[in-house]
Amino acid sequence: MQHINRRRFIQMAAGLGLSSTFVSQQIGAATGAKKIGVALVGLGGYSQGLLAPALELTEHCELRAIVTGSPEKIPKWQQKYGIKDQNVYSYDNMHEMANNPEIEVVYVVVPTALHLKYCEIAANAGKHVWCEKPMAMNTEQCQRIINVCHKNKVKLSIGYRMQHEPNTRRFMQYQTTQPYGKIQHIIAQAGYGGNGLPASNWRMQKAMGGGAMYDMGVYPLNGVRFMTGQEPIAVTATHDKSHPDIFKEVDETTYFTLEFADGLIAECGTSMVKSFSQLTMQCEKGWYQLRPMSSYTGVTGYTSDQQEFAAIKQIQQAIQMDDDALAILGQGALLVPGEEGLKDIHVVQAIFESAAKNTRIVL
Ligand code: NDP
Repeated sequence: MQHINRRRFIQMAAGLGLSSTFVSQQIGAATGAKKIGVALVGLGGYSQGLLAPALELTEHCELRAIVTGSPEKIPKWQQKYGIKDQNVYSYDNMHEMANNPEIEVVYVVVPTALHLKYCEIAANAGKHVWCEKPMAMNTEQCQRIINVCHKNKVKLSIGYRMQHEPNTRRFMQYQTTQPYGKIQHIIAQAGYGGNGLPASNWRMQKAMGGGAMYDMGVYPLNGVRFMTGQEPIAVTATHDKSHPDIFKEVDETTYFTLEFADGLIAECGTSMVKSFSQLTMQCEKGWYQLRPMSSYTGVTGYTSDQQEFAAIKQIQQAIQMDDDALAILGQGALLVPGEEGLKDIHVVQAIFESAAKNTRIVL
């Protein structure tokens, strides 16, 4: 069943008072599709606003379990998504999922500093792991997540939804077909506007993985690596602060220049106060661009010869989770393995070192 048909069907059923989970199950039964049981760990903004609704639209996934440290969230989630009592966990007992065959994947959606801890518990419980971006605080933590998944023979995907987004994938293929010749220069920017967040928010806390570079900076970084298919050989970075009284612990705006072996330069920026979003590949015979480049919706492709690739109508996160489920079912490639997250964090560490020492860092 196509995503759009499925969505319309669910909307119609909602009008008849049927729960979307019930309808989902009926669709699955009717099509005979095997669905992967997903447990969401951390019921914050991204899980509640994007992932849980997207799971309803997937073909191959089903939200079957939740892990939360906030008991007050449980009744609403159980009611909305039809989650059974025995599929509700806390951070302290989530290891008991090992005995729950209804859960096949654990999706870790907590602050970045906690990714390692819950990925380890999930993998040791024998569950496949989906880990949100950025993968972890440093390369050592990333490697530990990769190792524990390898040891337990479970699959590991990082939540880089843009690598599943069709317009982004179309332009990624230009690295091979080169319709505008070789890429000569890239501009990559992802930042959201505002004046920062309260100091109590983990995104403002260094120890929790806050700051622009960890939160948004991995989009331009990963985007450049994805578009070129190459690893940078050196980086030079600077931080910029217009609100030093608010951004006391973490970076507010970070600019970094990536150098590649063939001479290609990528000028990148990220920010928690400046709103910008583009990924522009300037080539020998023209250019192509994604604008915005990392938003949940509206990612549109433009080219120097006036082509426009309209934003998709589907939900990015539904495409991502279906791709990752198909990889688990052995029906598709694993598009974003743990190594992708590790390679980014290797560069992120060098970016902070470069800015701190005011020097170029060879990777
Ligand atoms: P939120 O702050 O909105 O939610 C985080 C949730 O994690 C909390 O609600 C809480 O859930 C749980 N949690 C567990 N321990 C802690 C703790 N010590 N402090 C704070 N929260 C805790 O964050 P987001 O949902 O926006 O982000 C979560 C992860 O998802 C991050 O890694 C982020 O980078 C990533 N993300 C990815 C996006 C993407 O597009 N790929 C977009 C947004 C975020 P509970 O109360 O249920 O325990």
